[in-house]
Amino acid sequence: MNNSKTYSSQEFIELEESLGAHNYHPLDVVCTGGEGVWLYDVEGNKYLDCLSAYSAVNHGHAHPEIVATLVEQAQRLPLTSRAFRNDQLPLFYKDILDLLGYEKALPMNTGAEAVETALKIARKWAYTVKGVPEDQADIIVAEGNFHGRTITIISFSSESQYKEHFGPHTPGFPMVPYGNIDALQEAITPNTAAIMVEPIQGEAGVVVPPEGYLREIREICDSNNILFIADEIQTGLGRTGKLLACDHEGVRPDILVLGKALGGGIFPVSAVLASKSVMDVIKPGDHGSTFGGNPLGAAVARAALRVLVEEKLVENAEKMGRYFHDHLEEINSPHVDYIRGKGLLIGVVLKEEAGGARRFTEALMTRGILAKETHENVIRFAPPLVIDKQTLDWALPIIRDVLLMP
Ligand SMILES: *Cc1c(COP(=O)(O)O)cnc(C)c1O
Repeated sequence: MNNSKTYSSQEFIELEESLGAHNYHPLDVVCTGGEGVWLYDVEGNKYLDCLSAYSAVNHGHAHPEIVATLVEQAQRLPLTSRAFRNDQLPLFYKDILDLLGYEKALPMNTGAEAVETALKIARKWAYTVKGVPEDQADIIVAEGNFHGRTITIISFSSESQYKEHFGPHTPGFPMVPYGNIDALQEAITPNTAAIMVEPIQGEAGVVVPPEGYLREIREICDSNNILFIADEIQTGLGRTGKLLACDHEGVRPDILVLGKALGGGIFPVSAVLASKSVMDVIKPGDHGSTFGGNPLGAAVARAALRVLVEEKLVENAEKMGRYFHDHLEEINSPHVDYIRGKGLLIGVVLKEEAGGARRFTEALMTRGILAKETHENVIRFAPPLVIDKQTLDWALPIIRDVLLMP
């Protein structure tokens, strides 16, 4: 290995393409540094990050307080496994439950693991509490969902590429159109354990359900003894201008799934929160993860929650989101159909004739803004929640020029 060689972007790209599995199609920018809302490539160019690692980097890149916590904890004690106890996990429980108003937490690492955990809790609750006959429990999901990439999770994806040739698929997940409460009502049977939705569908292209949808799900769950599972891995922790996207409708899910930004943009940390009566169906040995609840992740997540509150990131997302959204509306591009989203989770939906979002995201990149297309015709703008007005005032004219391209 020759560690002294310096590589150009093009050489890094060629290495990656020739050596790595082709499971992504990234924009051709090779990042080597990051600070706050900014990313730097290996040639020294500077970019505004408008993706934030799919909302994992809500706190901005390399937040000093979170980095300091990471370094300190890494030097002291990074990993014990859950075979022993550590002095960070209990404090993580306390902090996250206090902030979000739940009674019990179960820590994992990635979002997909937390979703799997929520599904296991809901199934076990159905059999041991609700009295659903063994192996008959259904969990209703929504079309257009994105909950991760495990075999079970892709089994109930409506995206054919995510599931094709990965069968046989896991049964037990009836699907209904997102945002349609009548269809949901009709799908319910005595064997329904839970309903799982994203309060806004991020990966589907920032799809916002009709006002009242989450409240109606809550009512249906209450009147049918069904658990409401909200996947807030992308929408949670301030992204939409409230602490949780469910807060926009004043709704409290029975099972809350968090990930992404919980790790402060640095380290994978996810968690499932629930009431005591629901979480207590899980007994020692039922479920686990070698890295889940590790002291390093617990310390980093505690710092992430502390910074979220101290720096008022939720309020900033609401304010800056409104400013960003309003000014995007004013651009009046012939390519834009409409703009949707809440807080700093914004989707610019392009018209069919616009020729796809990729040419716009590539043009933005050459002008110093990194945004990613979702589903061919939506440009997602989701900068770190630490963004300020001055930065948006720099970005908006550039976005305007790009959206007004022929
Ligand atoms: C990203 C995401 C996941 C999966 O998280 P991973 O950490 O990539 O496994 C699940 N649900 C939603 C809503 C997400 O946005």
